[in-house]
Amino acid sequence: MVQHARAAVFPGDGTYEIREFAVPDPPPGGAVLRVEAVGLCGSDAMQLHGQRHVPGEVADVVPGHEIVGVVHAITAEAAANWGVAEGDRVCVDEIVTCGRCRACLGGPGGLCANLQLYGYTMGADHDGGLWGGYGEFMRLLPTTHLMKAPDGLTAAELTVFEPLANALNWVAAAGVRTGDRVVVQGPGHQGLLCAAAALAQGASQVIVTGTGADGTRLATALELGAHAVVDVDAEDVTERVGELTGGRMASVVMDLTPVPAAVNTALQLAAFRGRVALAGLKHFRPVENLLSDLVSLKSLTVHGCAGSTPGSMEQAVQLLADRPSIARTLRGVHVGLEDVGRGIALLERAVPGEDAVHVSLVHEHSVR
Ligand SMILES: [Zn+2]
Ligand SMILES: [Zn+2]
Repeated sequence: MVQHARAAVFPGDGTYEIREFAVPDPPPGGAVLRVEAVGLCGSDAMQLHGQRHVPGEVADVVPGHEIVGVVHAITAEAAANWGVAEGDRVCVDEIVTCGRCRACLGGPGGLCANLQLYGYTMGADHDGGLWGGYGEFMRLLPTTHLMKAPDGLTAAELTVFEPLANALNWVAAAGVRTGDRVVVQGPGHQGLLCAAAALAQGASQVIVTGTGADGTRLATALELGAHAVVDVDAEDVTERVGELTGGRMASVVMDLTPVPAAVNTALQLAAFRGRVALAGLKHFRPVENLLSDLVSLKSLTVHGCAGSTPGSMEQAVQLLADRPSIARTLRGVHVGLEDVGRGIALLERAVPGEDAVHVSLVHEHSVR
Protein backbone atom coordinates (compact mmCIF):
# COMPACT_ATOMS: atom_id res chain seq x y z
CA MET A 1 0.00 0.00 0.00
CA VAL A 2 1.33 3.40 -0.95
CA GLN A 3 1.81 5.72 2.00
CA HIS A 4 1.20 9.38 1.54
CA ALA A 5 3.08 12.36 2.87
CA ARG A 6 2.20 16.02 2.85
CA ALA A 7 4.28 18.88 1.53
CA ALA A 8 3.83 22.61 1.02
CA VAL A 9 4.16 23.60 -2.63
CA PHE A 10 4.95 27.14 -3.82
CA PRO A 11 3.58 27.86 -7.32
CA GLY A 12 5.52 31.16 -7.27
CA ASP A 13 2.50 33.50 -7.25
CA GLY A 14 2.49 34.49 -3.58
CA THR A 15 0.33 31.56 -2.48
CA TYR A 16 1.07 28.04 -1.27
CA GLU A 17 -0.87 24.83 -0.97
CA ILE A 18 -0.51 21.60 0.96
CA ARG A 19 -0.40 18.62 -1.43
CA GLU A 20 -0.19 14.89 -0.86
CA PHE A 21 2.57 12.86 -2.47
CA ALA A 22 3.43 9.17 -2.35
CA VAL A 23 6.26 8.48 0.12
CA PRO A 24 9.07 7.85 -2.36
CA ASP A 25 11.57 5.01 -2.73
CA PRO A 26 15.27 5.86 -2.77
CA PRO A 27 16.58 6.91 -6.19
CA PRO A 28 19.36 4.61 -7.54
CA GLY A 29 22.37 4.96 -5.22
CA GLY A 30 20.52 7.43 -2.95
CA ALA A 31 18.17 7.48 0.02
CA VAL A 32 14.91 8.82 1.43
CA LEU A 33 14.89 11.25 4.33
CA ARG A 34 12.07 11.66 6.84
CA VAL A 35 12.32 15.42 7.25
CA GLU A 36 12.04 16.50 10.89
CA ALA A 37 12.57 20.23 10.61
CA VAL A 38 13.54 22.85 8.09
CA GLY A 39 14.72 26.38 8.76
CA LEU A 40 12.82 29.18 7.05
CA CYS A 41 14.89 31.80 5.30
CA GLY A 42 14.37 35.11 3.48
CA SER A 43 15.06 33.20 0.33
CA ASP A 44 11.87 31.15 0.90
CA ALA A 45 9.85 34.38 0.97
CA MET A 46 11.42 35.33 -2.39
CA GLN A 47 10.41 31.91 -3.76
CA LEU A 48 6.85 32.36 -2.49
CA HIS A 49 6.58 35.51 -4.60
CA GLY A 50 8.33 33.97 -7.61
CA GLN A 51 11.45 36.14 -7.35
CA ARG A 52 14.01 33.70 -8.75
CA HIS A 53 17.55 34.27 -7.55
CA VAL A 54 19.26 30.89 -7.53
CA PRO A 55 20.77 29.10 -10.58
CA GLY A 56 18.30 26.66 -12.17
CA GLU A 57 15.44 27.63 -9.84
CA VAL A 58 11.94 26.50 -10.88
CA ALA A 59 8.46 27.49 -9.71
CA ASP A 60 5.85 25.00 -8.44
CA VAL A 61 8.35 23.52 -6.06
CA VAL A 62 8.48 22.03 -2.58
CA PRO A 63 10.84 24.59 -1.03
CA GLY A 64 13.05 24.26 2.03
CA HIS A 65 16.84 24.06 2.02
CA GLU A 66 17.86 24.16 5.71
CA ILE A 67 17.06 20.49 6.17
CA VAL A 68 17.42 18.18 9.17
CA GLY A 69 15.92 14.69 9.24
CA VAL A 70 16.32 10.99 9.82
CA VAL A 71 17.44 8.50 7.18
CA HIS A 72 14.24 6.57 6.40
CA ALA A 73 15.43 4.22 3.64
CA ILE A 74 18.87 3.94 2.10
CA THR A 75 20.55 2.00 -0.67
CA ALA A 76 23.62 -0.07 0.21
CA GLU A 77 25.70 2.16 -2.05
CA ALA A 78 24.67 5.38 -0.28
CA ALA A 79 25.14 3.81 3.16
CA ALA A 80 28.70 2.91 2.21
CA ASN A 81 29.47 6.27 0.56
CA TRP A 82 28.02 8.45 3.31
CA GLY A 83 28.77 6.28 6.34
CA VAL A 84 25.21 6.60 7.62
CA ALA A 85 22.47 4.05 8.32
CA GLU A 86 18.69 4.01 8.57
CA GLY A 87 17.63 5.92 11.67
CA ASP A 88 20.61 8.31 11.72
CA ARG A 89 19.81 11.99 12.09
CA VAL A 90 21.55 14.08 9.45
CA CYS A 91 21.96 17.65 8.24
CA VAL A 92 21.62 17.87 4.46
CA ASP A 93 23.80 20.14 2.29
CA GLU A 94 21.29 21.58 -0.22
CA ILE A 95 24.00 21.92 -2.87
CA VAL A 96 24.31 18.73 -4.94
CA THR A 97 27.18 18.74 -7.42
CA CYS A 98 27.87 15.90 -9.84
CA GLY A 99 31.55 15.41 -9.07
CA ARG A 100 32.38 14.63 -12.70
CA CYS A 101 31.97 17.82 -14.79
CA ARG A 102 34.84 20.20 -15.58
CA ALA A 103 33.95 22.65 -12.80
CA CYS A 104 33.65 19.82 -10.25
CA LEU A 105 37.02 18.41 -11.35
CA GLY A 106 38.77 21.71 -10.64
CA GLY A 107 38.34 23.63 -13.89
CA PRO A 108 38.69 27.42 -13.66
CA GLY A 109 35.67 29.02 -11.96
CA GLY A 110 32.16 28.16 -13.01
CA LEU A 111 29.37 26.18 -11.45
CA CYS A 112 28.79 22.45 -11.66
CA ALA A 113 27.18 21.79 -15.06
CA ASN A 114 24.68 19.41 -13.41
CA LEU A 115 24.07 21.42 -10.25
CA GLN A 116 20.92 20.66 -8.23
CA LEU A 117 19.72 22.51 -5.15
CA TYR A 118 17.21 20.91 -2.81
CA GLY A 119 14.19 23.15 -2.44
CA TYR A 120 14.89 25.08 -5.66
CA THR A 121 15.75 23.26 -8.87
CA MET A 122 13.62 20.10 -8.88
CA GLY A 123 9.92 20.96 -9.08
CA ALA A 124 6.80 19.28 -7.71
CA ASP A 125 6.39 17.51 -11.08
CA HIS A 126 9.97 16.18 -11.10
CA ASP A 127 10.38 12.50 -10.31
CA GLY A 128 7.97 12.08 -7.39
CA GLY A 129 8.01 15.77 -6.45
CA LEU A 130 9.51 15.56 -2.96
CA TRP A 131 12.83 17.40 -3.25
CA GLY A 132 12.64 20.02 -0.51
CA GLY A 133 12.39 20.30 3.26
CA TYR A 134 8.78 21.56 3.28
CA GLY A 135 7.83 17.94 2.53
CA GLU A 136 7.47 15.33 5.26
CA PHE A 137 9.76 13.08 3.22
CA MET A 138 12.25 13.82 0.47
CA ARG A 139 14.55 11.98 -1.85
CA LEU A 140 18.33 12.24 -1.58
CA LEU A 141 20.43 11.96 -4.74
CA PRO A 142 23.57 9.75 -4.69
CA THR A 143 26.01 12.70 -4.75
CA THR A 144 24.36 14.42 -1.77
CA HIS A 145 26.66 15.73 0.95
CA LEU A 146 25.30 14.73 4.37
CA MET A 147 26.61 15.46 7.83
CA LYS A 148 25.71 13.35 10.87
CA ALA A 149 23.92 15.57 13.36
CA PRO A 150 25.53 16.09 16.77
CA ASP A 151 23.62 14.90 19.86
CA GLY A 152 22.09 17.25 22.37
CA LEU A 153 20.21 19.60 20.03
CA THR A 154 16.68 19.27 18.67
CA ALA A 155 16.07 19.02 14.92
CA ALA A 156 14.60 22.53 14.92
CA GLU A 157 17.67 23.92 16.71
CA LEU A 158 19.97 22.08 14.31
CA THR A 159 18.46 23.78 11.23
CA VAL A 160 20.74 26.79 11.85
CA PHE A 161 23.62 24.65 10.52
CA GLU A 162 22.79 25.96 7.02
CA PRO A 163 22.89 29.73 7.62
CA LEU A 164 25.85 29.10 9.94
CA ALA A 165 27.67 27.39 7.05
CA ASN A 166 27.05 30.52 4.94
CA ALA A 167 28.31 32.71 7.78
CA LEU A 168 31.49 30.68 8.21
CA ASN A 169 32.11 30.81 4.45
CA TRP A 170 31.71 34.59 4.38
CA VAL A 171 33.76 35.17 7.53
CA ALA A 172 36.51 33.09 5.88
CA ALA A 173 36.16 35.08 2.62
CA ALA A 174 36.67 38.29 4.59
CA GLY A 175 39.65 36.68 6.33
CA VAL A 176 38.34 37.27 9.86
CA ARG A 177 40.98 36.26 12.40
CA THR A 178 42.18 37.01 15.91
CA GLY A 179 42.43 40.72 16.53
CA ASP A 180 39.79 41.78 14.00
CA ARG A 181 37.18 44.41 14.89
CA VAL A 182 34.07 43.24 13.08
CA VAL A 183 30.87 45.18 12.46
CA VAL A 184 27.85 43.14 11.32
CA GLN A 185 25.08 45.27 9.81
CA GLY A 186 21.66 43.63 10.03
CA PRO A 187 20.65 41.37 12.95
CA GLY A 188 18.44 38.87 11.11
CA HIS A 189 19.31 35.24 11.82
CA GLN A 190 21.92 35.28 9.05
CA GLY A 191 23.57 38.39 10.50
CA LEU A 192 23.43 37.01 14.03
CA LEU A 193 25.15 33.86 12.82
CA CYS A 194 27.83 35.99 11.11
CA ALA A 195 28.48 37.55 14.51
CA ALA A 196 28.70 34.07 16.08
CA ALA A 197 30.99 32.88 13.28
CA ALA A 198 33.27 35.93 13.62
CA LEU A 199 33.53 35.30 17.37
CA ALA A 200 34.31 31.63 16.73
CA GLN A 201 37.12 32.69 14.37
CA GLY A 202 38.68 34.79 17.10
CA ALA A 203 37.50 38.32 16.29
CA SER A 204 38.41 40.45 19.30
CA GLN A 205 35.49 42.84 18.95
CA VAL A 206 32.10 42.22 17.34
CA ILE A 207 29.56 45.03 17.00
CA VAL A 208 26.09 44.36 15.57
CA THR A 209 23.98 47.19 14.17
CA GLY A 210 20.22 47.28 13.61
CA THR A 211 17.24 49.59 13.57
CA GLY A 212 14.78 50.65 16.24
CA ALA A 213 12.56 47.69 15.27
CA ASP A 214 15.37 45.22 16.00
CA GLY A 215 15.28 45.30 19.80
CA THR A 216 14.82 41.54 20.26
CA ARG A 217 17.40 40.75 17.64
CA LEU A 218 20.03 43.09 19.08
CA ALA A 219 19.43 41.56 22.52
CA THR A 220 20.05 38.15 20.92
CA ALA A 221 23.32 39.46 19.45
CA LEU A 222 24.52 40.29 22.96
CA GLU A 223 23.40 36.85 24.17
CA LEU A 224 25.52 35.30 21.42
CA GLY A 225 28.55 37.18 22.73
CA ALA A 226 28.65 40.36 20.64
CA HIS A 227 30.54 43.09 22.50
CA ALA A 228 28.18 45.91 21.60
CA VAL A 229 25.08 46.70 19.56
CA VAL A 230 24.10 49.96 17.88
CA ASP A 231 20.59 51.14 17.04
CA VAL A 232 21.21 53.16 13.88
CA ASP A 233 17.88 54.99 14.30
CA ALA A 234 18.87 56.30 17.72
CA GLU A 235 22.59 56.89 17.25
CA ASP A 236 25.03 58.11 14.59
CA VAL A 237 26.49 54.74 13.70
CA THR A 238 29.80 56.05 12.31
CA GLU A 239 30.41 58.11 15.43
CA ARG A 240 29.41 55.24 17.72
CA VAL A 241 31.61 52.68 15.97
CA GLY A 242 34.43 55.23 16.19
CA GLU A 243 33.95 55.45 19.97
CA LEU A 244 33.62 51.69 20.42
CA THR A 245 36.81 50.97 18.44
CA GLY A 246 38.90 53.73 19.99
CA GLY A 247 38.88 55.64 16.69
CA ARG A 248 40.30 52.73 14.69
CA MET A 249 37.01 51.75 12.99
CA ALA A 250 36.20 48.22 11.77
CA SER A 251 38.82 46.00 10.16
CA VAL A 252 35.91 43.98 8.74
CA VAL A 253 32.36 45.13 7.93
CA MET A 254 29.75 42.54 6.94
CA ASP A 255 26.57 43.90 5.38
CA LEU A 256 23.59 41.59 5.87
CA THR A 257 20.85 44.17 5.45
CA PRO A 258 18.32 44.36 2.58
CA VAL A 259 18.94 48.14 2.45
CA PRO A 260 21.02 49.49 -0.48
CA ALA A 261 22.25 52.54 1.49
CA ALA A 262 23.85 50.21 4.04
CA VAL A 263 26.62 49.61 1.49
CA ASN A 264 27.58 53.30 1.82
CA THR A 265 27.58 52.94 5.60
CA ALA A 266 29.77 49.83 5.37
CA LEU A 267 32.39 51.82 3.42
CA GLN A 268 32.24 54.57 6.07
CA LEU A 269 32.68 52.12 8.95
CA ALA A 270 35.68 50.32 7.43
CA ALA A 271 39.18 51.12 8.64
CA PHE A 272 42.13 51.75 6.30
CA ARG A 273 42.90 48.43 4.48
CA GLY A 274 39.63 47.08 5.85
CA ARG A 275 37.58 44.32 4.25
CA VAL A 276 33.92 44.74 3.36
CA ALA A 277 31.77 41.62 2.87
CA LEU A 278 28.54 42.21 0.93
CA ALA A 279 26.01 39.46 1.59
CA GLY A 280 22.59 41.08 2.15
CA LEU A 281 20.65 41.03 -1.13
CA LYS A 282 19.03 44.32 -2.15
CA HIS A 283 16.42 42.82 -4.51
CA PHE A 284 18.36 44.27 -7.44
CA ARG A 285 17.87 47.84 -6.28
CA PRO A 286 20.94 49.98 -7.02
CA VAL A 287 23.02 51.66 -4.35
CA GLU A 288 22.56 55.40 -4.77
CA ASN A 289 25.37 57.87 -4.09
CA LEU A 290 28.02 55.18 -3.85
CA LEU A 291 31.38 56.78 -3.03
CA SER A 292 33.89 54.49 -4.69
CA ASP A 293 36.65 56.90 -3.63
CA LEU A 294 36.30 55.44 -0.14
CA VAL A 295 37.21 52.02 -1.56
CA SER A 296 40.25 53.50 -3.31
CA LEU A 297 41.48 55.91 -0.66
CA LYS A 298 41.09 53.45 2.19
CA SER A 299 42.52 50.55 0.11
CA LEU A 300 39.45 48.49 0.93
CA THR A 301 38.85 44.96 -0.27
CA VAL A 302 35.23 44.19 -1.14
CA HIS A 303 34.09 40.57 -1.07
CA GLY A 304 30.86 39.29 -2.66
CA CYS A 305 29.32 36.61 -0.48
CA ALA A 306 26.75 33.95 -1.37
CA GLY A 307 26.16 30.44 -0.13
CA SER A 308 28.34 27.86 1.52
CA THR A 309 31.03 25.36 0.60
CA PRO A 310 31.19 21.66 1.53
CA GLY A 311 33.97 22.62 3.96
CA SER A 312 31.98 25.38 5.65
CA MET A 313 29.02 22.96 5.99
CA GLU A 314 31.23 20.47 7.85
CA GLN A 315 32.65 23.30 9.95
CA ALA A 316 29.15 24.56 10.84
CA VAL A 317 27.96 21.18 12.11
CA GLN A 318 31.19 20.82 14.11
CA LEU A 319 30.77 24.31 15.58
CA LEU A 320 27.23 23.44 16.72
CA ALA A 321 28.62 20.31 18.39
CA ASP A 322 31.27 22.44 20.15
CA ARG A 323 29.02 25.41 20.94
CA PRO A 324 25.40 24.20 21.08
CA SER A 325 24.47 27.50 22.76
CA ILE A 326 24.59 29.16 19.31
CA ALA A 327 21.68 27.00 18.13
CA ARG A 328 19.80 27.25 21.41
CA THR A 329 20.01 31.03 21.44
CA LEU A 330 18.67 31.20 17.87
CA ARG A 331 15.91 28.67 18.48
CA GLY A 332 13.10 31.09 17.71
CA VAL A 333 9.58 30.12 16.69
CA HIS A 334 8.31 26.75 15.37
CA VAL A 335 5.39 26.34 12.98
CA GLY A 336 3.66 23.25 11.58
CA LEU A 337 2.93 22.57 7.91
CA GLU A 338 -0.55 24.10 8.28
CA ASP A 339 1.03 27.32 9.53
CA VAL A 340 3.65 27.83 6.84
CA GLY A 341 1.92 31.08 5.88
CA ARG A 342 2.33 32.41 9.40
CA GLY A 343 5.97 31.30 9.39
CA ILE A 344 6.67 33.23 6.18
CA ALA A 345 4.74 36.26 7.50
CA LEU A 346 6.96 36.19 10.60
CA LEU A 347 10.01 36.08 8.34
CA GLU A 348 8.72 39.06 6.42
CA ARG A 349 7.97 40.79 9.73
CA ALA A 350 4.35 41.11 8.69
CA VAL A 351 2.78 39.81 11.93
CA PRO A 352 1.90 42.90 14.01
CA GLY A 353 3.46 42.90 17.46
CA GLU A 354 5.52 39.74 16.86
CA ASP A 355 9.15 39.30 15.92
CA ALA A 356 11.12 36.08 15.69
CA VAL A 357 14.90 35.78 15.45
CA HIS A 358 14.52 32.47 13.63
CA VAL A 359 11.58 30.45 12.31
CA SER A 360 11.55 26.73 11.62
CA LEU A 361 8.95 24.37 10.26
CA VAL A 362 8.66 21.21 12.36
CA HIS A 363 6.90 18.27 10.68
CA GLU A 364 4.33 16.24 12.60
CA HIS A 365 4.40 13.23 10.26
CA SER A 366 0.79 12.27 9.98
CA VAL A 367 1.74 9.74 7.32
CA ARG A 368 -1.25 8.08 5.68
ZN1 LIG B 1 18.54 30.06 3.27
ZN1 LIG C 1 29.60 18.92 -11.62
